[in-house]
Amino acid sequence: MNKSTAEPLPLNPNGSTSLRVLPSVCALDCPDACALLIEVDGDRVVRLTGNPDHPITQGFACVKTARYPERQEQPDRLLEPMRRVGAKGEGKFEVISWQTAIDEISDRLRKIIDKYSGQSILPYCYAGTMGVIQGDTPKAFFRALGALELDQTICATTGGAAWEANYGPNKISTDPEDLIEAKYIVLWGINVLRSNSHLAPILKAARKRGAKILHIDPYRNETSRFADEHWQIRVGTDAALALAIGREILAQGWENRDYLQAHASGLDEYRQACEPWTLERAAQFCDIPLASLRIMVEAFAKSDPSFIKVGYGMTRNEGGGNALRAITLLPALLGSWTKLGGGAALSTSGAFQLNRREITGENLIAPNTRHVNMNCLASELLGANTNSTSNASVTSNKQLSAKEVIRSLIVFNSNPAAVAPDSRRVREGLAREDLFTVVLEHFQTDTADYADYLLPATTFLEHPDVYTSYGHYYLQYADAVVEPRGQARTNRWIFQQLAHAMKIDAPALYWDEATLIDKMLASENPWLKGIDREQLASKKSIKLQLPKPFLPYADGSHFPDKKIRFAPPPAQIDFEEQPCDQYPLRLISPPGDFVVNTTMGNVPSILKLAGGEPSVLIHPADAQKYGIAASQTTRITSRYGQIDRKTIVSEDAKEGVVISVGQWWPKLSPDRKSLNDLTSERLTDLGGGSTFGNPVVHIGPVR
Ligand code: SF4
Repeated sequence: MNKSTAEPLPLNPNGSTSLRVLPSVCALDCPDACALLIEVDGDRVVRLTGNPDHPITQGFACVKTARYPERQEQPDRLLEPMRRVGAKGEGKFEVISWQTAIDEISDRLRKIIDKYSGQSILPYCYAGTMGVIQGDTPKAFFRALGALELDQTICATTGGAAWEANYGPNKISTDPEDLIEAKYIVLWGINVLRSNSHLAPILKAARKRGAKILHIDPYRNETSRFADEHWQIRVGTDAALALAIGREILAQGWENRDYLQAHASGLDEYRQACEPWTLERAAQFCDIPLASLRIMVEAFAKSDPSFIKVGYGMTRNEGGGNALRAITLLPALLGSWTKLGGGAALSTSGAFQLNRREITGENLIAPNTRHVNMNCLASELLGANTNSTSNASVTSNKQLSAKEVIRSLIVFNSNPAAVAPDSRRVREGLAREDLFTVVLEHFQTDTADYADYLLPATTFLEHPDVYTSYGHYYLQYADAVVEPRGQARTNRWIFQQLAHAMKIDAPALYWDEATLIDKMLASENPWLKGIDREQLASKKSIKLQLPKPFLPYADGSHFPDKKIRFAPPPAQIDFEEQPCDQYPLRLISPPGDFVVNTTMGNVPSILKLAGGEPSVLIHPADAQKYGIAASQTTRITSRYGQIDRKTIVSEDAKEGVVISVGQWWPKLSPDRKSLNDLTSERLTDLGGGSTFGNPVVHIGPVR
């Protein structure tokens, strides 16, 4: 399992040790939101482990975060504010004081607003920290400026939109602590042992009590080996499989008619949509053994209860929203929401109804504010009005008017030069001489190389924050465990200084942390009842006041009429981007064993564990067909770009699929290119999400 094996860093070599163990919470973008214990020697962080007293964390941190002390103490941490002296992208800076940085940045922003309006400033941020204070409250600064509104669509919006199309707003899930009651568990499109590793002990316990575990994923990985059975499904056919399962359940009369009568609408249309998807057709279309599929449907339908854990990765293609809708209607068809441990899980985030309106400045957004879909950053920076919300077409490329052109980009908690789709064009946009770019960071990332001002930010170990979760139901608080390194400052402090210098009159920007926490907890939501700042600060982790037993959707959906929506029915979407003679293979990019996103992507021991350079998996038949030997460098070409990667030949990749594991820093890759040079701004069918699992590619050896 993906447990911590990291050795502690050496204790303070210079003096007597003053070793102490302090509680914290993992701030990385991960559903587990682990409660952590941090060993600190003097001012050095020497070890990080999971808190054994936390019911979900159960005493272990994952293999990545266990190495956070190494990251925290890395000598190349950014320690001082800096101003660009070289060309954009060259990464050459000179050290300046905070006063100079704040004065000069605020002056530039003020001039841009005066000349063009706040609508020429784009904040770009994502989940570099999951903390509410350092992650979400900086948005209030931009909203007070009248800046563009960033739609944060890169990861979860398709899944969220799909779930909410079925079940209404505020998505919630089966409580993972109840999963032990499940008797048939489907892990659909998720490498649980890497991306949700604290579910593994619960799955093991459920299996001990007789549960069967099926893994469905085109990538055969350690979760496949952990499961009782694995289906290496054809990429992008998940909706067809789910509709076929639904059809068979209805054909056999295994549906829960009482539940559907009371809590569902649109069942006739759904039945019609399922009709073409016989088990025989789906087995062939999805490349799944028919006999296994037959056995599975009966066992799944008759298990009391069955449960599906569904991953976001499978939603990142043209039909991802429909696929997730089709899968997550199955528990409603069976009425398994009425049984403890039954149902499904995508995200628990809708349970945390914090009062965010004022602290994030939602009340400051002007009615005509233009929204920018973060998946379309490349086109936006290059002057195209993408005006994109949710459709499966590539952006329109209508040119922005002079007033609409983005003149300033402020990046925090993200690394778009590496992670944004079509990153070759993102870098082209970042290189614009007239674009005023400020980056808040821990290290000099590829994005930071393009900054006009590069500002050192604190890590989660250096500031207090409040954490929700999207994998469990504990609200958590963490204090700083060490002082900020060098002159690093919190995101909040930096935006407060800028607001002050720009004389922005919005009281919420200046609230201290205690006030922010009081405000966010001042919620009418009954699940937050009785949780106040003092209690959160002393207990650190408090489970929401969920009803007991907690049976989400047992009484229907979160729509006003409480009906679960089977109509309009989900469909198997025909992708516009299909394998063809020129690009015969599909590319997907799941998390790697060690490298997931770019957050930990410069930690030496992690890079070593991950093989020292990024690699791709290809099936032996594809290796033979395209003349590629194991360990040779493969050139991968899509319509959008070309990269070179080391090859691993393995049946872990499905034939016809190239698997690139983990997102590496471009500048730490031998060709200095991003995996996202191959991806496009094409959007998903629901929620305007990213389509990282969509590109078709050609491969060949690098000679
Ligand atoms: S499993 Fe997730 S939450 Fe836990 S330590 Fe690792 S990244 Fe952080």
